[in-house]
Amino acid sequence: MSGTYKGIGVSEGIGIGKVLLIQTRPLVYDKKQIEDTVGEIRRLRDAFERYAADIREKTERVRNALGTGEAEIIASRLQMLSDPYVKDGMEQLIAGGTCAESAVETVCGMFETAFLSSSDEQTVQRAADVRDLRDGILRTLLAIPEPDIAGAEKGTILVAEEITPSMTGEIRRENIAGLVAQSGGYTSHAAILARAMGIPAVMSVPGITNLVKDGDAMAADGSSGVVLVNPTEEERLAFHRKREDGIMRRRVLDAYRGRPTETADGIRVKLLANIGEPGEAEIAVENDAEGVGLFRTEFLYMRRSHLPDEDRQFEAYKLAALRMGGRPLVIRTLDVGGDKEIPYLKLPREENPFLGYRAIRFCLENPDVFKPQLRAILRASAYGDIRILLPFIADIGEVRAAKYVLAEVKEELRRKGIPFRDPISTGIMTETAASVAIADLLAKETDFFSIGTNDLSQYMMAADRGNEKTAALCTHYQPAVLRAVRHLIRTGKNAGISVAMCGEAAADMLLHPLLISWGLDEYSVSPGAVLGVRRNLSLWSREEADAVAQTAMELTTAAEVEACLRSSRKE
Ligand code: PEP
Ligand code: MG
Repeated sequence: MSGTYKGIGVSEGIGIGKVLLIQTRPLVYDKKQIEDTVGEIRRLRDAFERYAADIREKTERVRNALGTGEAEIIASRLQMLSDPYVKDGMEQLIAGGTCAESAVETVCGMFETAFLSSSDEQTVQRAADVRDLRDGILRTLLAIPEPDIAGAEKGTILVAEEITPSMTGEIRRENIAGLVAQSGGYTSHAAILARAMGIPAVMSVPGITNLVKDGDAMAADGSSGVVLVNPTEEERLAFHRKREDGIMRRRVLDAYRGRPTETADGIRVKLLANIGEPGEAEIAVENDAEGVGLFRTEFLYMRRSHLPDEDRQFEAYKLAALRMGGRPLVIRTLDVGGDKEIPYLKLPREENPFLGYRAIRFCLENPDVFKPQLRAILRASAYGDIRILLPFIADIGEVRAAKYVLAEVKEELRRKGIPFRDPISTGIMTETAASVAIADLLAKETDFFSIGTNDLSQYMMAADRGNEKTAALCTHYQPAVLRAVRHLIRTGKNAGISVAMCGEAAADMLLHPLLISWGLDEYSVSPGAVLGVRRNLSLWSREEADAVAQTAMELTTAAEVEACLRSSRKE
């Protein structure tokens, strides 16, 4: 089938390649009574063999590409496959007339329940591996291929109902030409990661997973959101030309490499990058960022089936610090919850996860998770200008409690003679409505603010950032959001602390005159946006910015504000 479809462009660039369709639908089958039990057992054994061969191949590939640590996660499934209790249990059920699929579900379900009820944390974490094994064997039985994202060939466009944060952990940017999904928006984590890796991405394309099959040719425009399936030769050429134009634009931006970030009248600001894993520090440096303004550490936790221990985290933070070569590296402590799920943490199901037990709320109640992370960050701080960022602050008690835990961890390290940076700059994400209301109080007890406009927009407007239906409300052009941003900047500056912005709005060229006028100190944007932001900031003088801010802030609706900023835009 061929056709033109439209979604939301969330990561610039033109992706041209072949579709790899990620099936995340439930693995459904007929629960039938079996007559030929011997044949059914043979079917199961055959599935086991094929699945084992598949895992062996994948383990090798991952070992070569990413190293032994990552390969181990996959190889652990092999051990379970050869566990006699697993296989014998299934075969006994089949001998009694159960179909192979149902036997797999029952036995894996029993193991899962047993693991989950263990008091030993390691055993509890194995429940996720059992689920993986179950899905793997079921897929083999039902001949539904497992999505092999890490092993995708060069020039692959991933198409899925939803690109989840855990899927993005497997993406190798050199092989993935584009991401296309049926749901998700500009601030979804997959979109943020796509921008960080410079992969063109289009989300919220209605029904796309039913419109394509593996191997279809596809071209996706990450700016306009247009997706072509099996394009004509003419369309393909037009997309190639667009890609060339994009490359030309990058050349213009290259002239801004190595230049200071300053306005037309010489006001210096800092321009840093947002990253999600240590390797991206390299991408930040490649893009001439002056540091990392936000290291989202949750991806370190999402990539694996169990909690990364202190040493593993220390290595990751140290690696990023060394790659930054003395430039600042702001590490945000675990921001779990909301749309960032980490299955092995077994967070309780909640009616309102975005208003629930997430980020700092979870960390303060789970010192076994929080303390090792703080220890790892502090130990790594001996290798660079590391700063700590606490997410989702709504109550000053959270800041005090987090600093108390930090002081305890420091004391432990001191006693052991382990070096770390002291004092270590500790700031907060100002991204809740409460943090705006008590900004003056928070500014007295923190070293810096970092405005998270993605969450701030949703919490100011009480409008879900991932819901298409509330997209018009959840925008940083809303007067309510802009007033909150202005208040945070002014309050921080009055208190003498620096104010950064690490939400997506920092890279929105339309907003720059307002941010210049209010005196934002630091912009932290996805690495691919660094040079464009530097160029745009250099086009504005403070006086011009003040005039735009004055006009825009007198307007009453988001649409009016956006139109005003659009008409003031400098090219
Ligand atoms: C934000 O909320 O603006 C932010 C930067 O954090 P995240 O997108 O990770 O929630
Ligand atoms: Mg946030």
